[in-house]
Amino acid sequence: MWSPAAERLDADIAVVGAGPAGIAAAVVAAEHGRRVLVLDEGLRPGGQIWRHGGGEGAPRAPLPARRWLARLERSGARVLDGTTVVDGEPGWSLLAEREGRPLRVRAEALILATGARERFLPFPGWTLPGVLGVGGAQALLKSGLPVAGRRVVVAGSGPLLLPVAAALAGAGASLRVVAEQAPAHRVYGFAARLWRSPVRLALAARYRYGFLRTAYRPGCWVLRAEGDDAVGAAILTDGRRTWREACDLLCVGYGLVPATELPRLLGCDLTGGAVVVDENQRTAVEGVWCAGEPVGVAGVEAAVAEGQIAGLSAARAAVPAGLRRSRAEARSLAAVMDRAFLLRAELRRLPDAGTIVCRCEDVSLGEIEAGWGTRHAKLATRAGMGACQGRVCGAALQFLFGWEADRVRPPILPASVATLMEAGTEAAPPAGRNT
Ligand SMILES: Cc1cc2nc3c(=O)[nH]c(=O)nc-3n(C[C@H](O)[C@H](O)[C@H](O)COP(=O)(O)OP(=O)(O)OC[C@H]3O[C@@H](n4cnc5c(N)ncnc54)[C@H](O)[C@@H]3O)c2cc1C
Repeated sequence: MWSPAAERLDADIAVVGAGPAGIAAAVVAAEHGRRVLVLDEGLRPGGQIWRHGGGEGAPRAPLPARRWLARLERSGARVLDGTTVVDGEPGWSLLAEREGRPLRVRAEALILATGARERFLPFPGWTLPGVLGVGGAQALLKSGLPVAGRRVVVAGSGPLLLPVAAALAGAGASLRVVAEQAPAHRVYGFAARLWRSPVRLALAARYRYGFLRTAYRPGCWVLRAEGDDAVGAAILTDGRRTWREACDLLCVGYGLVPATELPRLLGCDLTGGAVVVDENQRTAVEGVWCAGEPVGVAGVEAAVAEGQIAGLSAARAAVPAGLRRSRAEARSLAAVMDRAFLLRAELRRLPDAGTIVCRCEDVSLGEIEAGWGTRHAKLATRAGMGACQGRVCGAALQFLFGWEADRVRPPILPASVATLMEAGTEAAPPAGRNT
């Protein structure tokens, strides 16, 4: 079979991910004279929070983002948008796909800044049209989803509920309730901790002001979604009382989980689902750094500080103490946030035997046995073997059953046959370990 020869590019440092962490890493490394290549599957640099449109009328990136994006342009780092990294070999050689064609990147150092994704937990009715993730709703709003006059319930957990609720209300949605599963004492305890972080406190207050007419209810969660062809109502509970909230859209998300497929594929160590790094963001694998959400979900300030530390360290430049302080502050707040928004045990009991848990392969909870583990579930039912390769159901099954994540195999994201044929065509020396 004919395979288009892979394009080949060399760099001193390859950065995977052009969110805040990847951009910050690329900028400082390029400013120190290193040849930097940034690969991102998105259409333009920015990642999740600095996502912005390209054309006229499209949303502008926020101010700090615009500063970093301008610096990125000036830095001399080369950015390859629309480029999906699907495999990597020690050496370092990355295999990516760009415009349907394979691309090989060789670099002395890799910085992995692959971000996080939303956590979905299954409940009866969650596959009905009109039920979507909180982050998904945010992305659709940014791309112009009309919600004016539509009845919307926002539910789940974590700070992300606030900007999305504010954005929905601002776009004219009839917001019914914002249900936060964490109990009130933990949520307000977290809010009190924000006094030490006035910028975040102001932001939280601004978001709350954005949907002031709608109740924000801690200690409240969705039991099920009801509807025939599409969602028509959410059944909510606060543990004592259960009620029905009519809605046309139900946005539910349970926080974020680090995207660690590439670090795991390359052999990085993980703990608690996050990549282990040293004080310079170096992973256990020689020549590989990691920054931002894969190291643990901690928000944009941590991502920017860690990106700079990783970029400077990979460029063999000194790391200013101020950056380490910013990282420590952001990480300490993130630890408080994790405790505040810990998921309640009741959420494990939401799905019944008929509830689909793996949407790609149509596997329901009743087909899975708790004692199995991720790999066994894959082999027995194909759960996690569909198009998303377990990126949605994997985190859910880990939460429901306490299972470990399964081993990662290439390609880590869907790839064309041409790209797959390119995989394994280059032999490489074995990986070393950072000591
Ligand atoms: C759905 C969602 C909504 C969010 N909304 C908010 C919000 O409203 N407010 C807020 O403060 N924070 C929000 N966050 C959190 C915020 O996005 C992060 O704190 C911040 O963006 C972290 O930056 P990062 O660089 O670590 O990751 P990201 O910004 O997520 O960037 C990671 C980048 O890596 C790329 N990537 C990943 N894997 C590959 C691959 N294999 N090949 C090529 N490219 C790859 C992705 O395309 C992405 O551009 C949200 C997060 C998510 C997931």
